[in-house]
Amino acid sequence: TATVQESAPAPTTADYRALDAAHHLHPFSDMGALNRAGSRVIVKADGVYLWDSDGNRIIDGMAGLWCVNVGYGRQELAQAAYRQLRELPYYNTFFKTTHPPVIALSARLAALTPAPFKHFFYCNSGSEGNDTALRIVYRYWAAQGKASKKYVIARKNGYHGSTIAGATLGGMDSMHEQMPSKVEHIVHIDQPYFFGEAPAQLSPEAFGLERARQLEAKILELGPDNVAAFVAEPFQGAGGVIFPPSTYWPEIERICRRYDVLLVADEVIGGFGRTGKWFSHQHFGFEPDLLTLAKGLTSGYVPMGAVAVHERVAAPIVENGEFNHGHTYSGHPVAAAVAVANLTLLRDEGIVERVEHDTGPYFQSSLREAFGHHPRIGEVAGAGLVAGIQLAQSPRERTRFANGSDIALACRDRAFNGNLIMRASGDRLILSPPLVVSHAEIDEIVDKAKHAIDATLRQFGLL
Ligand code: PMP
Repeated sequence: TATVQESAPAPTTADYRALDAAHHLHPFSDMGALNRAGSRVIVKADGVYLWDSDGNRIIDGMAGLWCVNVGYGRQELAQAAYRQLRELPYYNTFFKTTHPPVIALSARLAALTPAPFKHFFYCNSGSEGNDTALRIVYRYWAAQGKASKKYVIARKNGYHGSTIAGATLGGMDSMHEQMPSKVEHIVHIDQPYFFGEAPAQLSPEAFGLERARQLEAKILELGPDNVAAFVAEPFQGAGGVIFPPSTYWPEIERICRRYDVLLVADEVIGGFGRTGKWFSHQHFGFEPDLLTLAKGLTSGYVPMGAVAVHERVAAPIVENGEFNHGHTYSGHPVAAAVAVANLTLLRDEGIVERVEHDTGPYFQSSLREAFGHHPRIGEVAGAGLVAGIQLAQSPRERTRFANGSDIALACRDRAFNGNLIMRASGDRLILSPPLVVSHAEIDEIVDKAKHAIDATLRQFGLL
């Protein structure tokens, strides 16, 4: 059998595939089908481009999994990791110790997040971040003497990760089906997905209010004294880049305040510049109590997640004895050092401001030019450098294809074969490139996306 060793001659793509099929279980994959087809082996990356083991150059329209915000190949991050690995590769902060990188990162996050966020708890991923957010929420209500507040409300077609709590919080049927038991006291309301779910006569504004008021109805059904928190992505990412109507978030915020329910914004995708604001709740203009962070925190160079805690939540916890929660790698020094270097690049190179004022508007207008009057595209949703492209049988009537997700997957695969990474979610196609993408690279992404979508629609006899 083939082996892959550093000193041996360069393995071929076939060698890699054989070993991968023999020993590697991929996330979110049909392993049988994948092993028969063979994975593409990604061997290096620079800027917004990836290279596979056959030498093909691929433009990454997804920034990995929405995470490589500063783009690939930044030496500053490699240097920060190397220096920290030599100085102090590991130490924990459990038992009366701390270390310079985690201190620097916390101070930096306090400066970058909105003013009320002054405390940060660290973990290794977005999923753990949401688990941690729930632990903090329960701790807060215990400190307030309101332990009866234990229900958490989330949304159908939301995504909050793949741990048991993360997957329970998420409203993905495909994940729930594979979980015989779930975390208790987590319930779901409908999503603010205007194109897909609004009745014909309702305006987006009225629909946004209607969906937000499902939260109020659910709180009243459970009893306000029993509801701890509402957890949601400011815009749904994995669910299809669904941007809620303008009326949605102000109404959600009003309801949370009225019934004394904590508001957790899952900023795992939206954080660190994706919409052109540092955090996507700022794009929508509301004030959450907790922020779940990951992905862009380190631009994916090393794993790290965090929860930002509003002072009104942090203060009672700080003065309420021991919090029995933490991970071996909470605040890992190498991850923290890389995060600081990454945040320095985002800040000092004006990357987020460029997304807001230059590349974001250019990306959005290019997509709307390409798809705005397209006979089979129902909407282009998004802001900054994230977009969802809705396939539609009839854009005007908002009717969808029965086999829309098959068409979207075929679009995705065709784009992939044409060396563009684009993602499919249901009957929507998703783009979320690195935040350093140039105008020329945006042109390449939009051209390739249009070509793949049109060719696929023709293949299905729909164009
Ligand atoms: N929340 C959101 C909004 C996400 O998009 C994701 C991952 N795509 C997660 C949580 C989970 O993060 P992780 O995969 O790092 O556990």
